[in-house]
Amino acid sequence: MTVIIKDGDILWRDEEQIAEIRRMANAFGAVLQERRRQESLKAAGKFAYSCADAELSDLGFLAVLAEEFGEVAHEVNELIGRPEKRTLEHIRRMHAECIQVAAVAVARAELYQREIDAADGAFTPESA
Ligand SMILES: [Mg+2]
Repeated sequence: MTVIIKDGDILWRDEEQIAEIRRMANAFGAVLQERRRQESLKAAGKFAYSCADAELSDLGFLAVLAEEFGEVAHEVNELIGRPEKRTLEHIRRMHAECIQVAAVAVARAELYQREIDAADGAFTPESA
């Protein structure tokens, strides 16, 4: 059992909960890093728009997501009937592709969130 004090509140967490939060934080951190990489590739001119840009159509977003999803499928397919190929290197590739799928979806969610916020009249950095 671990005690965490946050904003004057005492939160009780057991080690299993802390380990779960760490695993999730690591995965979310990798997605955030991939989102930043996508935006830096756009800034470097590798592509005109990211999935967070309204200029990329919903169908364009779907094509990007399908490509990334397909790359996960490719890596998984490589293992069917060949469990000996499930090496750490292969697991790293599957992890990277899963992070890319999540980052592409997060990018689009950012756009949709901005659209929802604009419709709601919510304050956003863009509206400031
Ligand atoms: Mg990929």
